[in-house]
Amino acid sequence: MKDTQLFESVERELNRQRNNIELIASENFVSEEVLQLAGSVLTNKYAEGYPAKRYYGGCQFVDEVEELARQRICEIYGAEHANVQPHSGAQANTAVYLALLQHGDKVLGMSLADGGHLTHGHPLNFSGINYEFYSYGVSKETETIDYEAYKKQVEEIKPKLVVAGASAYSRIIDFEFMAKVAHDNGALFMVDMAHIAGLVAAGVHPSPFPYADIVTTTTHKTLRGPRGGVIMCKKELAADIDRAVFPGMQGGPLMHIIAAKAQCFYEVQQPEFKDYAKQIIKNAKAMEKVFKEEGFRLVAGGTDNHLLLVDVKASCGISGKKAQRLLDEINITANKNAIPFDTEKPFKASGIRIGTPAMTTKGFKEEDFEEVARIIAYRLKNEETDEIKEECLKRVAKLTEKVTMYSNIKYI
Ligand code: PLP
Repeated sequence: MKDTQLFESVERELNRQRNNIELIASENFVSEEVLQLAGSVLTNKYAEGYPAKRYYGGCQFVDEVEELARQRICEIYGAEHANVQPHSGAQANTAVYLALLQHGDKVLGMSLADGGHLTHGHPLNFSGINYEFYSYGVSKETETIDYEAYKKQVEEIKPKLVVAGASAYSRIIDFEFMAKVAHDNGALFMVDMAHIAGLVAAGVHPSPFPYADIVTTTTHKTLRGPRGGVIMCKKELAADIDRAVFPGMQGGPLMHIIAAKAQCFYEVQQPEFKDYAKQIIKNAKAMEKVFKEEGFRLVAGGTDNHLLLVDVKASCGISGKKAQRLLDEINITANKNAIPFDTEKPFKASGIRIGTPAMTTKGFKEEDFEEVARIIAYRLKNEETDEIKEECLKRVAKLTEKVTMYSNIKYI
């Protein structure tokens, strides 16, 4: 029996996803096959352990599924070992710390204020609570990672582990340099490539794999898979990583999600995925061009990847929070974001983060993204009037009308 109240909420969300311009840099739209597998009968199966080493009977078919997922992701990145069981990116990072560190060990990660992630040592996160985390960041002049300062910190702190990777950083990270400094100083080097995983898979962003001892990722951002995490590592760390995920941190794996991950990796291996990843970057560059024409200040001067950080306080005299609301009202979804050296509290923030992966999946090309950037500029630079709002809504509808998505799906 259907809970109509609940299904109606999901239907409304389906329509929001169909009709809005989705610019959250960490989101994407999965294929119908990924959706089908994420909602499949595999949700019924307990499979604690790993393929051929399970604590439950009846695992022969889910073993096939997990093996496919592991093999495919290793092929994609040239990784020696993969654990596809982490329920999320945060869980993947937790398992790595559990495998490699003792309580109180020193770790160096990117500052959240400069684009890092909570799990890279924020004091309120388990990482900052359980380990002695230090943070590196960006230089005031360039707003890109201050590699010389980072080197000095590694030499002084002598961390056991260095964590690279970010949630709000629009430039390419020099993994080779960071790894060399870490290794020269006796530290392990981990890259959390959650945001750029799809770009790396397609070869349109430098890969951390030749340099990193461990790489973690989410599967739901540029990789365009179900929500989840993966850990990849060198063979010699494989047993420790697997033990940390299960039984260290999780119970039964989400086999339906692992099946959806395997389908995602299959899609990533198709030639079209390379075109998709290239288009993500072309689209981000198209937005960069228009924002510059419109006189907006972009953090780090622009983008090399799938996202832009726009300093709306400097550009339009409004907070990130207000910009997010003004865009929400015209069916454009983005998120407020702190910018480096922000003088506002994170909940208000001076910036907005804008990403191109989701709308690139819907088929938007450079000219569409140029129009999106123009609409954003028009909305944020002008007074908050009903006329401007209506005009923007019409322009947004004109862009979204031409794309159809999930047309076979209905919940009510
Ligand atoms: N690592 C990075 C760099 C991220 O950006 C994120 C999510 O935004 C995560 C980890 C955490 O992923 P999840 O939300 O799946 O726990």
